[in-house]
Amino acid sequence: MLGTNGSDDPSGVDEVIPIGVQPPRPGTSPFTDSDEQIRAALEDVSVPALIAAVVQTTGDPTLLRGPLRPRRFVPNDFQGGLNDDERRALRTAALDVLRSFRDLGCPPPPPLHRDTILETMSWLVCEDVPDEYVEMFLEEMDIDGTDPRQITLPQNGRVSPEDLPVLVIGAGASGLLAGVRLKQAGIPFEIVEKNSEAGGTWLENTYPGCRVDVGNHFYCYSFEPNDDFSEYFCQQPELLDYFRRVMHRWGVQDHVVWDTEVISSRWDASESVWRTITRGPDGKHTERVSRVLISAIGQLNTPFVPDFPGLDSFTGPVFHTASWDHSVDLRGKRVALIGAGASGFQVGPAIADDVEELVIFQRSAQWIAPNRRYRQPVGPGSKWAMRHIPGYQAWYRFMLLYQASDKALAVVKIDPSWSGMPLSANAVSEQRRQVMMKWITELVGDDEELLEKVTPDYPPMAKRQLQDDGSWLRCLTRSNVELVREPVTSIEPGAVRSGDARYDVDVIIMATGFETDDLSSSTQVMGREDRVLSEEWGKAPSAHLGITVPGFPNFFLMYGPGTNLAHAGSIIFHSECQMQFIGVCLGHMMASGSRSIEVRTDAHDDYVRRLQEELAGTVWAHPSVRHSWYKGPDGKVYVLSPWRLVDYWKMTKWPDLDEYAFS
Ligand code: NAP
Repeated sequence: MLGTNGSDDPSGVDEVIPIGVQPPRPGTSPFTDSDEQIRAALEDVSVPALIAAVVQTTGDPTLLRGPLRPRRFVPNDFQGGLNDDERRALRTAALDVLRSFRDLGCPPPPPLHRDTILETMSWLVCEDVPDEYVEMFLEEMDIDGTDPRQITLPQNGRVSPEDLPVLVIGAGASGLLAGVRLKQAGIPFEIVEKNSEAGGTWLENTYPGCRVDVGNHFYCYSFEPNDDFSEYFCQQPELLDYFRRVMHRWGVQDHVVWDTEVISSRWDASESVWRTITRGPDGKHTERVSRVLISAIGQLNTPFVPDFPGLDSFTGPVFHTASWDHSVDLRGKRVALIGAGASGFQVGPAIADDVEELVIFQRSAQWIAPNRRYRQPVGPGSKWAMRHIPGYQAWYRFMLLYQASDKALAVVKIDPSWSGMPLSANAVSEQRRQVMMKWITELVGDDEELLEKVTPDYPPMAKRQLQDDGSWLRCLTRSNVELVREPVTSIEPGAVRSGDARYDVDVIIMATGFETDDLSSSTQVMGREDRVLSEEWGKAPSAHLGITVPGFPNFFLMYGPGTNLAHAGSIIFHSECQMQFIGVCLGHMMASGSRSIEVRTDAHDDYVRRLQEELAGTVWAHPSVRHSWYKGPDGKVYVLSPWRLVDYWKMTKWPDLDEYAFS
């Protein structure tokens, strides 16, 4: 176990992170537990994932071919619709195998044949898994621990890795990933980070209740699975700790320049290098010269605070969720929470117990999908299985990814013949709407006024869909909580106004999201002929594959325009695709002896045209969705990816290098 909390430690050291010491990879730690201990652990696991792991442990698919098999793949359930008796029988079969495995000293499992892998996948999800997905899933599962997404450099390249020094902006989830991959490849790099710690969004967002809403065992790097997450959807401190541990484990921290802001980066065509000016903590400006520049600043880093009339006159504390003021004691206070999106809906239930009154200003109602695992701890049996049973965590990850891969595109594509707009976009969307409405009605249906307030008036998934175990809706029924669905019109000393209604409050919390119109806002990037990226983009940012921009050689974006995912996957999955693409480009530069790579304008324009065509037919762009950070000021969508995960994965794994000019 890395990292120990040592508050009682007389040396005063808070935490010790041994650099370079790695715990065994999940699923590879031998065990000597008794039959009874194993039996107890198996009570807690996903039985289908257990059987898949047993198949992996033995290489024998017989269990998949027996009469007991999952009947339906239910999101966030992972028990395959098996009844108690069936689960018991399968656990007993698994126990027999694990007992022999233990008695043999936990030998390395045999390699699995691809056909067996595909058979196992299809068995788990109760349908034929399309062949085109298998490689993508296998990479993501990293089933044999070989980390297939590492950068592969040519053996006898015409340029050595030392000739390709890279500057990375940002040490968030994407920047750290870039650091690990560059370090593995032996490419010199530096990461410039404005904060004094890594973690990006998971460092800055410390609001109460902050947790990830992608299943954690998938929301982690493919090469760094973790068998120790305490919850299925972890809270912010634990995620931050995960990223810090990954950074230390790979020694990336030695490459990070902390408390340092990037002021500008300029392409120097005469030398084919980027010249980046940074400002350090002492205010000193430094020029950093690199062949390659990777921007990993993310899309959600500048808090947005609406310009409410009178905001400056408010007498009490006002702060944004992304810069939570922990010095303010909310106990016994009357609090206004403005905004009820992904952040606000987590804050509400987390503070409602403490405050005297909570007035929530919710401009639009949000679609929320039921998820009973949302605040559930990972039991000791599941952790045991992840740690000791070969493949258990990888197969569990596969199920998480499968439920989040591509099917939801059917929900977001508008059927032009569908008459249900604006409430639903097509038959699948209507079905989903009804499922969510049924659940919402079960929770608050006896209060008609509240039910009306929490019922969205746009199709499912048109804005960021939330998921919950019911805490948010239950919170709204509390006697000290009031939900206002009218707009905030002004703020006065000691009060928030909505039209004629005045709400006296002591504190205002802005859960109002982020500036997303200008994705390059915090740095000035100047390409060939001093073209300025933010000016080129205006309010309509674009990049080929969301990664490269014509006129900006050797410049790569991670989590750039057109790469946010609103239908599937996770940002980490996408970042790994983007880093894979960057690795291919660097490898090609080395092999060909090129000093620069630049996407051709026609390739970029064609890609963006296809992207926009695809987005135009989705609920994300539909005019009935009035407020959404997915939309630019002109109503078009610039931040989202409309592609199937498998297509983006292919585009970034095997890029068409003819679309690039090398020199
Ligand atoms: P958000 O989803 O953009 O929500 C902002 C909220 O503020 C919305 O309720 C919005 O209302 C409201 N608002 C904005 N301007 C307003 C105004 N002038 N008057 C009244 N209300 C106003 O921002 P967020 O909640 O910070 O989330 C942003 C993104 O961060 C998410 O979509 C997600 O990608 C990510 N995130 C993820 C997690 C997670 O993984 N658990 C948690 C938090 C955030 P409207 O809905 O009417 O616009």
